[in-house]
Amino acid sequence: MSRRLEPEVVRADFPIFSDPRWRDLIYLDNAATTQKPRQVLEAITEYYSRLNANVHRGVYELSVEATEVYERSRRRVAEFIGARSWREVVFTRGTTESINLVAYAWALRNLRKGDKVVVTEMEHHSNVVPWQLVCSLTGATLSYLPVTDDGYLDLSSLDAHLKGARVFAFTYASNVLGTINPVRELVKAAREHGAVTVVDAAQYVPHAPVNVSDIGCDFLAFSGHKMCGPMGIGVLYGRRELLEEMEPFQGGGEMIREVRFDGSSWNEVPWKFEAGTPNVEGAVGIAAAIDYLSQFGMDQVRSHDLRLTEKALEVLAEVPKIRIVGPESARDRCGLVSFTLADIHPHDLAEFLDRRFRIAVRAGHHCAMPLHTRLGLTATTRASFYLYNSEQEVEVLARALREALSYFRAA
Ligand code: PLP
Repeated sequence: MSRRLEPEVVRADFPIFSDPRWRDLIYLDNAATTQKPRQVLEAITEYYSRLNANVHRGVYELSVEATEVYERSRRRVAEFIGARSWREVVFTRGTTESINLVAYAWALRNLRKGDKVVVTEMEHHSNVVPWQLVCSLTGATLSYLPVTDDGYLDLSSLDAHLKGARVFAFTYASNVLGTINPVRELVKAAREHGAVTVVDAAQYVPHAPVNVSDIGCDFLAFSGHKMCGPMGIGVLYGRRELLEEMEPFQGGGEMIREVRFDGSSWNEVPWKFEAGTPNVEGAVGIAAAIDYLSQFGMDQVRSHDLRLTEKALEVLAEVPKIRIVGPESARDRCGLVSFTLADIHPHDLAEFLDRRFRIAVRAGHHCAMPLHTRLGLTATTRASFYLYNSEQEVEVLARALREALSYFRAA
């Protein structure tokens, strides 16, 4: 039996909301990072208090146990995302490092002048800039699958874009529009064209069930801190055969089998990609976050997000002079809504919401400048939800936006 997701009860799991300064905070910046439950904080403290040693190095009992904890976390992640083997799970610093790993360890070595990399217009900078860098180093070209005016990928031009593509890198869910992309369809099309697929799942894995084996993608990236885990830990899922044939990303301790004066040979996957002392605390934390979310089950987390998104689309649409970007249907969105309000600058609006209503939202380009250019905007305000948010909080947001209109004399 899974635990019932009641936001008011769940909120009590998060110590930050008991802090006198933040007790009344309406935290709607979950797409940037989520708060951390007691269960995750305790797992990290427990690790440092009872099991801390460097991993994969010592033969003494404490180090062996620390190594077991680290590798158990990897197996927990593999099971959570439906990987066929724990060897397909590489720990990184986060989504950004995971995508850079693919760009440098796979693409830089495999792309030639004239090859094509395809991304989409709705990508976060971390799924644009690594490809720009690698294209400039290899002479490959970068093309962008367009976004329609209503915030979907324009699939009518998918085949034309994928023709001759070696890499197709796209987001599972947009951090600005909220759009959930038809990932299976995109992977299938890429495969038919012989392109390697890289899925940025930073905004999706925290919010819904994911099974990489069903999706059939080659790589998939996400971050621990957006799913109740700590910062500085992330995951690159990679299909085993591809990881096996890839060269390392970084060199150093632990990623080698043997180092000689005249060269080196590499450790097995996934350790080949984990140079240096790894973030054991992060691995413990992400596994604890997975355990925490699994009490509710990801279907329930998704239903809760959906309810809040439906509510937000309903009540925000009634606010005068609001422009909501992204799909009209909540079903096509992960749990977030971005908008502009009259001619109020999003930074001014976010400051007003914080000072007057204790609502934390994000304002700016959300690391998606090309998408904002496509939308004809420089910035938006974004409200993003998670399991401790309630429908009442969404209602307060709508009321606060109406007050902002009169405060800024924009009504
Ligand atoms: N991709 C998307 C869609 C994101 O929303 C983010 C973070 O906001 C990232 C990638 C980058 O994640 P990180 O900063 O954890 O590496």
